[in-house]
Amino acid sequence: MKKPIRDKSEAIEILHEIAILMELKNENIFKVRAFENAARVLEGDPRDLAALVPTGELEKLKGIGAGHIARILRELYEKGKSKDWEELRKSFPQTLFELFRIPGLGPKKVKVLYEKLGIQSLGELEYACQENRLMDLDGFGTKSQQKVLEGIQRVKRTQGTYLIDVGMQEASKLVTYLKKQKGVTRIEVAGSIRRAKEIIKDIDILVSANNSKAVHDAFVKYPEAQTIVAHGDTKSSIALRAGPNCDLRTVSEKEFPAALYYFTGSKEHNVAMRTLAKRKGIKINEYGLFKGNRLIPCKDEAAIFETLGFHYVPPEARENTGEIEFAAKKPFPRFIEESELRGTFHVHTTYSDGLASLEKMVEAAQDLGLEYVGISDHSQSAKYAKGLEPARLRLQWKEIEALQKRVKIRIFRGIESDILPDGKLDYPDSILSQFDFVIGSVHSRFNIPEKEMTERIRRAIQNKFLTFVGHPTGRLLLARDGYAVNLTALIDEAKDAGVVMEVNANPHRLDLDWRILSYARKKGVLVSINPDAHSVEGMKDLRYGVGIARKAWLTKDDVLNTLPLKEIDKFLKKRR
Ligand SMILES: [Zn+2]
Ligand SMILES: [Zn+2]
Repeated sequence: MKKPIRDKSEAIEILHEIAILMELKNENIFKVRAFENAARVLEGDPRDLAALVPTGELEKLKGIGAGHIARILRELYEKGKSKDWEELRKSFPQTLFELFRIPGLGPKKVKVLYEKLGIQSLGELEYACQENRLMDLDGFGTKSQQKVLEGIQRVKRTQGTYLIDVGMQEASKLVTYLKKQKGVTRIEVAGSIRRAKEIIKDIDILVSANNSKAVHDAFVKYPEAQTIVAHGDTKSSIALRAGPNCDLRTVSEKEFPAALYYFTGSKEHNVAMRTLAKRKGIKINEYGLFKGNRLIPCKDEAAIFETLGFHYVPPEARENTGEIEFAAKKPFPRFIEESELRGTFHVHTTYSDGLASLEKMVEAAQDLGLEYVGISDHSQSAKYAKGLEPARLRLQWKEIEALQKRVKIRIFRGIESDILPDGKLDYPDSILSQFDFVIGSVHSRFNIPEKEMTERIRRAIQNKFLTFVGHPTGRLLLARDGYAVNLTALIDEAKDAGVVMEVNANPHRLDLDWRILSYARKKGVLVSINPDAHSVEGMKDLRYGVGIARKAWLTKDDVLNTLPLKEIDKFLKKRR
């Protein structure tokens, strides 16, 4: 039995898929576009399916209406399936759907591969590339063949991996569900999610319960489970509709701290700690700490570390990258917490490529309890993103001025300026000087040698109007590596120039990476945790940035946007 589809993003994905499949079938292009358009409309509407479908609001949406598309969405919502969608899917081999995962391979190109070369799977495509079959194909060539090959490697490498936001959202839904079950006394998410890793493979949940069997019976009946992988009394596993697997383990109250420590990992950290414990004659495993056969009682994780002669190591730091040596000597400083952020920067609006209006984004920042928000749409060279030429900039400034009179939160007017290939910012000084802050980002010409890219960004850092370097590596997690650039050189440069490095909190970016972020911390370079929000929802991404900052051991003092309004105002003015 299929389960009803209540998740809007799932429905949107299905609409996209239908559009692609219809195009493959050479259906009327206007019909294809109607599906693509409907997906966009749904994406842009802040309401979820429960607010749209049962109420009949869905049919009132411009771009959806009361026709075919609404009928499909209704079927998906009520029954979890749709006849038209299923029939469409059935007319293609299932392996064809793998091709859609290759970056840059849009429906048009998949169509050519399918029709001209009869390619129906990832394996066939890889083989065709190795035989140089794409070189003379319409719309392809030597270069794009190389790109496709790289894309295949990436898909293979990243299969079964997910971004942290998927992991955290799914885990929290599951925790809410499990908490409602009778007899559950303790519940924690462990594994890479607890360590705030940027990429996760699965979700680990640990529970102690009076009635373990009942909890597992409920777990495998979780409405968002797609398949049951294993069903036991202490250990079960399901595959979620959203993709990742979730493993549930139940232990006794007494075993809970050791199990939590064990299942949090990382593996490297655990191995290192086990070796050190052995030297003290202590055995650690998921059931506890043992001297010979005698269990050493530990009431929580802190007690485990203490017994072994260490200070407590926060989960995010457990990567065996120096934390054990550190904790042998002194306690960790208190890492930054989301509640310590007093404001943020890097917020897009409908003036460029954001989905929500200036007013809505400012309200969203206010709803998060922030004291200030920095608006930064794209600059004039970013044509693809409706970058702002001077006339529209002035319009935005006017609107900000008017809005400021109505809201409590302080609005800073800024820009996300392209760093042009020659390292210049995207406006003359006469305009740059009128912003409260400037974020400089690279959005074009990624494929230049490392030296050139480093020089390009170095020049921007030397520009006296630059406040932040935005998403410093340009990476897109699971989709695109960052450009070649000497980050340590840039961090040193930023230190000298008083420029702030961004921790872009968008789960697709999380850029700077936490590994290099520790270098920035040691150098004493200030960072700012910014959401790069393109929608009201996107404002909430700040939490992922905080997770990454904690992984790099950052404290409140390392992060610019923990400053209260008065001091931030002073800081920004100093750079004008
Ligand atoms: Zn950007
Ligand atoms: Zn941006």
